[in-house]
Amino acid sequence: MTEPLVVAIDGPAGSGKSTVARAVAARLGLEVLDTGSMYRAVTSLAIRAGVDPHDTDKVTILAREADLGVGERVTAGGVDLTDTLRTDAVNDTVSVVASIPAVRRELVERQRAWVAEHGGGVVEGRDIGSVVFPRAAVKVYLTASHTERARRRGEEAPESVARRDLLDGGRTVSPLVVASDAHVLDTTDRAIDDVVEEILSWL
Ligand code: C5P
Repeated sequence: MTEPLVVAIDGPAGSGKSTVARAVAARLGLEVLDTGSMYRAVTSLAIRAGVDPHDTDKVTILAREADLGVGERVTAGGVDLTDTLRTDAVNDTVSVVASIPAVRRELVERQRAWVAEHGGGVVEGRDIGSVVFPRAAVKVYLTASHTERARRRGEEAPESVARRDLLDGGRTVSPLVVASDAHVLDTTDRAIDDVVEEILSWL
């Protein structure tokens, strides 16, 4: 059986992952899975339930029991969480939730199931090429200058982005790393079409 086509796009906050992922997916006729939105959804659920994000057991139960729907809108058990995903409260705690190994195991399993169901996809995150889909057809690691990344993050305070980067890169389980066979692409001064063409040329 041939493996479904997976394009893995990793990189820190503000490196251009979402924009690039959407454009590459449109060209290939694939759907995008934004794995960050899944970690954000579990974080949002924990906040709603008044669960301490450091309480690994409780957060893990929440993640396992969450009936997540990911796409244009992100839902849990029919409740639309989309508008809560980029609030300060979620920005401030998502990296703590994402450092819990059992939460990662649960969400990684769902990411693989999503790709199997959709017959492939463009998957963006932090550990996609390194852990979730080590056999992806193309692995891209996006970077951009600090100034450019801060600009792209818009509403989120630079300190919050810096803190997430530090936690995401420093955690023991699935830290943000460049997979050994990933193409590293600096998007700072690049036009989106140009970046997309380059990625497609690697396929
Ligand atoms: O991509 P985004 O900035 O929305 O991701 C939010 C957070 O989710 C990241 O800062 C990181 O802590 C976590 N994340 C992760 N692994 C992924 C995707 C996101 O740990 N594959």
